[in-house]
Amino acid sequence: MRWVRTTFAAAAGAAAWACLEAAAGPPSDVVVKTSEHYRVTCHGLDAHVADASLEACEAAWHVVAGLVPDAPLLPHPNPLEVHVYRRFADYKAVVGARGYGALADEHVNLAFAGDLTAFVWFRPECPDEAMKRIGVPWGHRRRVAHEAAHLAFFERVRAGGFLPEWLNEGVAGYAEHHSIASIGFAPEIARNPTTGGWSAACRRMRRGGSLPSASDLMLDRLGPRPRWERAAAEWAFFTFLMDPARRPRLAAVLDAARPAATDAQARRERLFDVARRAFGPEAFDSLTDEFGAFVDGLAYEWDEWSGDLSVADARWIQTSDDGCAIAWREGGVGRADFAVDGSFEIQPGRQGTMAIVLLGLTDAAFVVVCFDGGNGVSVYDGRRGKTTADAAWTWMGGTKSPAPEIGVATRFVVRVADDAVHVKLAEKDVLTVPLKGRDMKGPWGVGVSAGALAIWDGVALR
Ligand SMILES: [Zn+2]
Repeated sequence: MRWVRTTFAAAAGAAAWACLEAAAGPPSDVVVKTSEHYRVTCHGLDAHVADASLEACEAAWHVVAGLVPDAPLLPHPNPLEVHVYRRFADYKAVVGARGYGALADEHVNLAFAGDLTAFVWFRPECPDEAMKRIGVPWGHRRRVAHEAAHLAFFERVRAGGFLPEWLNEGVAGYAEHHSIASIGFAPEIARNPTTGGWSAACRRMRRGGSLPSASDLMLDRLGPRPRWERAAAEWAFFTFLMDPARRPRLAAVLDAARPAATDAQARRERLFDVARRAFGPEAFDSLTDEFGAFVDGLAYEWDEWSGDLSVADARWIQTSDDGCAIAWREGGVGRADFAVDGSFEIQPGRQGTMAIVLLGLTDAAFVVVCFDGGNGVSVYDGRRGKTTADAAWTWMGGTKSPAPEIGVATRFVVRVADDAVHVKLAEKDVLTVPLKGRDMKGPWGVGVSAGALAIWDGVALR
């Protein structure tokens, strides 16, 4: 751990109650922890969440401090503020009070430059029992690191709104990756689900001819694009500029991001000017070619990945609150005989009770095996849609007995052989469903329907 001092105290407003109620037992549901640069306030969450959040914050601070090394403002006289909420309703209320309630549904974490404060919804929102099993998922740490990096950068350059998006989000994406790696999670770009997912998205854009040019990135001319693609391009571009050959010119741009002119617009224009001068207007074209070559070299493990599935943990935690949590990867499937095995543990207390193995893609759909807690095992032909509502699921076969037990880790083997899917639970054969010539190829993975919560362990393709 890098920070020098850690304190644990009830928030000021709750301190008196905490003292009075100590004998009665229920602790305050607000935990405050402070480090050298941050104060993390957890609402409805325990000290473990606060500690993990603070660790991610400090790791992000060190990455950003390395990017803008000699800013004269440190140590900051007041810690940067990060609030973490257990309940989405509480998160939305506080963001809404700042006038950004409409953003809350899409952005479950936000950082504000004005008062250097960030708000993060802790996911999954689930009962205590499930929370104890899940701990602090990687997904939470990365979201906190991302917002903490925004705060650190805002603090160092003393501004936020004037920053072009490639720089603001590029720094945060870069710092998120390196800070999470520094505390022990998936150091390689390919293995980290976010950077691997961004790499896959950039490679898709490159193949489709829609990877933005260096000048469009530099001059904030990305146009309307999905948020995930913007983030992917901005992270990749910043990471590309961090290459030793380009870093001195990037340093000039970062230097120009520091306070100079007081007017935000003037500062923004100055930054563009410096970028133009550092790289040269004519150099933007060759920079675009080099960026394309850099993207061609990006590796990834998962072709498609949803942030609701923390595949960077030793155990994969699925926390789909608002959609399907999925991860799948190309390759491997396409043999006549293959199997996906491992164990799953469906968590109680959610609206859904399902865990899903995505077994392989046919010409039209995924063949999926659904483990439905308390209900049984089914195999579907799942046609993908643009939204969950568009997707069409055709039942291919199933059994109600045995039904997977909720809250119990269960070994499974799903094997494709002899034109059929064979399912084993807890070492017993429980189901065989004919594939009727469905020729599977390409991706495989795991997923879960909206609302369900599960832990996967040791899942692999054999
Ligand atoms: Zn961001």
